[in-house]
Amino acid sequence: MEYFNKEDIAAFEAYGNLEKPRPVSEALEFTEGRMRKAGVWKRNQLLGLRFPVACVALEITQRCNLDCSLCYLSEYSEDMKDIPLEVVLRRVDQIYKHYGPHTDVQVTGGDPTLRNRDELEQIVAYVAKLNMRPTLMTNGIKATRPLLERLAKAGLVGIAIHVDMTQERPGYASEKELNEVRKEYIERVRGLPISVLFNTTVFRENFHEISDTVSFLRSHADVVGFISFQLQADTGRGTIRERDVIINLDTVTAEIKKGLERPVDFNVLQVGHHDCHNYGMTLSINGNIYDLYQNADLTVELTHALKEIEMDRNDPVRTVGRIVAWCLKHPRYTVKGMRWVLEHLWRMKSDLIKARGKVHKLTVFAHNFMDAKSLECDRIESCSFMVMTENGPVSMCMHNAKRDDFLFQPIKMNTADGEQVWDPLTGKMNSDGPLVQLPELSKTAKMRRKRQEKLDSSVASNA
Ligand code: SF4
Repeated sequence: MEYFNKEDIAAFEAYGNLEKPRPVSEALEFTEGRMRKAGVWKRNQLLGLRFPVACVALEITQRCNLDCSLCYLSEYSEDMKDIPLEVVLRRVDQIYKHYGPHTDVQVTGGDPTLRNRDELEQIVAYVAKLNMRPTLMTNGIKATRPLLERLAKAGLVGIAIHVDMTQERPGYASEKELNEVRKEYIERVRGLPISVLFNTTVFRENFHEISDTVSFLRSHADVVGFISFQLQADTGRGTIRERDVIINLDTVTAEIKKGLERPVDFNVLQVGHHDCHNYGMTLSINGNIYDLYQNADLTVELTHALKEIEMDRNDPVRTVGRIVAWCLKHPRYTVKGMRWVLEHLWRMKSDLIKARGKVHKLTVFAHNFMDAKSLECDRIESCSFMVMTENGPVSMCMHNAKRDDFLFQPIKMNTADGEQVWDPLTGKMNSDGPLVQLPELSKTAKMRRKRQEKLDSSVASNA
């Protein structure tokens, strides 16, 4: 396995900005090239076949109202002003130019709900206007129902809510107790026309609660459509560093499967590198889980056969219409497709009757971010999860490993007074082009660092 060394990381650059939109076919080819270079191009690979990127994070603030023990933000995040709206929209344009319509754009931060509400709404609306899919990544504290209604009206298609023990929410001593918070958020989003994901960071303290958390969330599959677990990673300002030996993609996936209580294959279709994540696609009917990819060979074959069809998740009726029209022209696949549907219906029949036809789609992920000090070259090369920076998209793990380099740089802007630069530390324009100097660490950051040093030395003396 090859790792980036310190110098490689320092020299690593984002993929750059594009002058005009790249045709989707070229974007797919570009991604396929990256997959091949990394040696992960296989027949069950979706990245580069169906879509050129799984998701692009658009960080609209570095501020947060929590201080998680596994936070990926920089020690200096609270010193950075929110980047101007014009710059955010310019980055949205770049996401479109790189990856085209239907791209998932995760509006994130810090916590994006801390951004000026009118600007947040404009950002969501602009992403939607370009026919991309804006989702909100939040800890939920300030994601009030009126705000979510407003954002849904502006075009928001989904919300990803992060709740877990790493957030150290006062009064909650376990994931089980945190289900009270999850329940409150579930009721808050109930009935909104957006998909709902719950995200949990896995660390030593909650590993044993993964399966119960899955059980709780799937018992709310009428609202929750996605369950995601991300493994702890040593990156950013978080105070927990070394990953516990028990935590890896296989052990976390095994715990998730326990919570699903029915066999689900997480490796039928791959998105990016096999060490980065895996996922299962299921239906929840009458409280029971059904693996939608049960027939692996047929799933892969149909995925390839249907690759030409534009899957517009914003308009499922039109997408189904396209699939039906395509099937009519390809009777061989119509027969196979019908067989697939009938097989599934037969398996589900008794629960379908009991649930009176109520079916909920439930997708379950495990995501394995890397430590900042051990970035694997092939995983960065085949990364499916990008962050949009001033200099184009870059792998999320690489971004986290050198956040300050990407964030604390003067940003060029065109103003009525000509080209000026925006200073991320002051939030002001300056025609002289200020040199950004990282400030003294804030009091909180200093305390955190001291706490960490103390922890490190006690670990060393116990070793
Ligand atoms: S962000 Fe990191 S863990 Fe996720 S796909 Fe990219 S390289 Fe892999």
